[in-house]
Amino acid sequence: VFENVSGAPADVIFALTAAYKADTDPKKVNLGVGAYRTEDGKPWVLPVVHKADHIMVDDDNLDHEYLPILGLENFRKASAKLILGENSKAIAEGRVGAAQCISGTGAVYTGASFLAKHYPFKNAACYISKPTWANHRAIFEGVGIPVLEYPYWDAETKGLDLKGMLGAMEAAPSGSIFLLHPCAHNPTGVDPTPDQWKQIADVMEARGHFTFFDTAYQGFASGSLDKDAYSVRYFVERGFEMFIAQSFSKNFGLYSERAGNLTIVAKTPEIKNTIESQIAKAQRAVISNPPAYGSRVVSLVLNDETLYKEWEENLSSMANRIIAMRQALFDELVALGTPGTWHHIVDQIGMFSFTGLSTPQVKVLKEKYHCYLTDNGRISMAGLNTKNVKYFAAAVDDVVRN
Ligand code: PMP
Repeated sequence: VFENVSGAPADVIFALTAAYKADTDPKKVNLGVGAYRTEDGKPWVLPVVHKADHIMVDDDNLDHEYLPILGLENFRKASAKLILGENSKAIAEGRVGAAQCISGTGAVYTGASFLAKHYPFKNAACYISKPTWANHRAIFEGVGIPVLEYPYWDAETKGLDLKGMLGAMEAAPSGSIFLLHPCAHNPTGVDPTPDQWKQIADVMEARGHFTFFDTAYQGFASGSLDKDAYSVRYFVERGFEMFIAQSFSKNFGLYSERAGNLTIVAKTPEIKNTIESQIAKAQRAVISNPPAYGSRVVSLVLNDETLYKEWEENLSSMANRIIAMRQALFDELVALGTPGTWHHIVDQIGMFSFTGLSTPQVKVLKEKYHCYLTDNGRISMAGLNTKNVKYFAAAVDDVVRN
């Protein structure tokens, strides 16, 4: 019966990792996947997560019963508080809801599928940044919401195209959905300043657009969890209703545990309840109820003062190593006199850098130098360390010159 089904292309990022793994050259460098690596190029179990693992193993009261449909209560509450702040007025007013989802991807999907069914502006499109994380388009198109792009990356300045972004927001039909990255934009590493966020909020408000934040890197951008939540909290203060998809893959290193949350900021507690009830109904039919392990780890840490402090320290050590690698790469390129300007590497924020390298240059980096990065020139800074940064810089120098 399936003779006429045509095959789908392999996922680009996962294919890149497979190609890296299959490469036997000892000099190979993996700059593709957005997962943290230590100075030795190894995955890192955060010490605080290791501690939480042990607490759980020793807890004789833990069982493997189903979680509620919307997930672990303490996890949902703590996740909302993490992004909206300890003293969030919206939380105090009882109009903030939450649904535990299958990590950040599941949270975006859950919000998107709610909008597909219940958003009152029929045929509204979702505008995503150009460029963005590839899954954004796939998820929204998958639930039947048309996807359009707003300008974001300015190739000239290797920074934010604010004018283009605001222009697209002005031009979009009133009530459009805008997907925004609160911090550490993937893939560009370029974030708006507070003043630019104000301008964005002004237009979003004037045009009556719906805000859908997707945050996968809280704690990775500035090194401060609160600062990284600035844009979200600012929008909430201004009275926006919104969805916020949260991932704990990167900031807890819980990639495979699929710990995520959809925080809902509604106009009233009643509307919040209605939204949660519809999300629960939909979630029941897709995953029935979310997995417990990752959410238990996150909940333990977020709800314990000592563990929370330790988590902050773990987070800064990741963020600081990445910042040091940005500097090291920049210094190497400057020392080599590599043609072009490279300041954007130190100016950009978070796990990624959008190098400005072209697709043909990326091909040479892969084939001649065994350096694996996505075709759009994005590198995961976490893949660099003091042992390979010189080699990578020399490879970049060669492809830029030739
Ligand atoms: N949103 C963005 C922008 C991301 O970069 C990521 C991770 N690559 C995610 C969401 C979600 O990832 P996960 O499903 O692994 O939590």
